[in-house]
Amino acid sequence: MSARPRPGENRPESPAIDLLIRNAEWLVTLDEERRIIRDGAVAIDGAEIVAVGKSDEIAGSYHPRKIIDAGDKLVLPGLIDTHVHNSQQLGRGLADGCDIPIHLLQRLYGYEAQLLSDDAYWAATNCHLEMIRAGTTCFLDPGNYFPDEMARTLGESGLRGVIARIAFDVHTTAIGDLARHVVRETADEALARAQETIDAYHGAHDGRTRVWIGLRIPAVCSDELIRKAKQTADANGVGLVLHASEARDEVVASRVKFGMPDVERLAELGALGPNVLLIHMGWASPRELALTLRHGACVCCTPSTGFRAGMGSMEFGRFPELLELGATVALGSDSAMSSNYVDIVRQMTLASGAAKSQRLDPMVLPPETVIEMATLHGARALLWDEQIGSIETGKKADISLFDTNKPEWQPVLNPLANLVYASRGGADTVVCNGQVLMEKGVVLSIDEERALFEAKTRGRRIAERSGLLGAIQPRWPII
Ligand SMILES: [Zn+2]
Repeated sequence: MSARPRPGENRPESPAIDLLIRNAEWLVTLDEERRIIRDGAVAIDGAEIVAVGKSDEIAGSYHPRKIIDAGDKLVLPGLIDTHVHNSQQLGRGLADGCDIPIHLLQRLYGYEAQLLSDDAYWAATNCHLEMIRAGTTCFLDPGNYFPDEMARTLGESGLRGVIARIAFDVHTTAIGDLARHVVRETADEALARAQETIDAYHGAHDGRTRVWIGLRIPAVCSDELIRKAKQTADANGVGLVLHASEARDEVVASRVKFGMPDVERLAELGALGPNVLLIHMGWASPRELALTLRHGACVCCTPSTGFRAGMGSMEFGRFPELLELGATVALGSDSAMSSNYVDIVRQMTLASGAAKSQRLDPMVLPPETVIEMATLHGARALLWDEQIGSIETGKKADISLFDTNKPEWQPVLNPLANLVYASRGGADTVVCNGQVLMEKGVVLSIDEERALFEAKTRGRRIAERSGLLGAIQPRWPII
């Protein structure tokens, strides 16, 4: 009889695995018990996590083909950004300093009107680059007119994501009309294209790509489109995503035209449910909050959009209450045009700080809660919680490592508080679906130099073509 192997000693029958993350200073699992494992390890084979535990227990049980040493690292489930307009990445700054009607109807549509398919591809590639560097492994893009380019980018970058072919069918609103050049489709035409996108890409790239139905703001969607969009999402077993009760102007616009705010209208049309993700929701009325809870719809809180666009989302939004009442409330970065960055750690900092400041309450939205919003709640909001959101055996290997060996992290007495309150964010190493997308700050899945070159040149050309460049110049002379 052979002697029982000691911990750390390779057993002859140890199975081979693809990747071992070991010696993690802090392994934050987000499992049922919310265990934080000191000197932790994660064994990964293919796309899946096969074991989680102490390094000395795990390391001796497998023959890994690759090892990542996570000494000095905070290891988290890959972060989930539930609102990211990939195609707006090259328009950073073009919607600055203007009121909501101009922001939506002139700046965003003005930029999009100039976007060619190659621009959309490079916008998405740069957006994925920013997300990987931020430690994001999964996102939802609420939709645009370039689903082929969005899917291609997902295939190449290695990220996990939900995309959509956007739908809307109304061109006049109570806060202004859309320009003539904006795409014009009927409800049926828009939904036929959305269905084509689901048929083409839902489940693509080893399951990393999913496709939902995306509506723009309800103010530009007819009752027929909203009703049919929910039915199409249900028939395909996918989600429906749309902006809702985003800003005061939009609440007024909906009341003037439809006699009620967005979420009440969605409820009237039978378009609320657990597969519906409501973006922003900073201006949701008490009745809208109750309807959201009653129908089990999910909410995406976007702190930086509120700050950048002066919308009061965190001041008037009721996100801590929704969380206490059991709602799913995830976080979203929005876009380079509305936010103006794509970084979910910064969203955690803003959400936590803004709620405390608004309520004069240092206990509200503690680090644990905002980290749950960026992981478990994000996974639930994207209908993906059986596979992602925590570091547990059987889940997909989506994992982000943050380097704590930096001045702003010292001393690391509470790593969760340091991540949210003290760090500058920015991951060191990112794994998605078992693939290493970034290691020690080097992005492996995207040619970063080429992507940045394309962003600089294409971004300036689009700004010039759209005529928006003059509107956003510094107030000081440039000599
Ligand atoms: Zn948006």
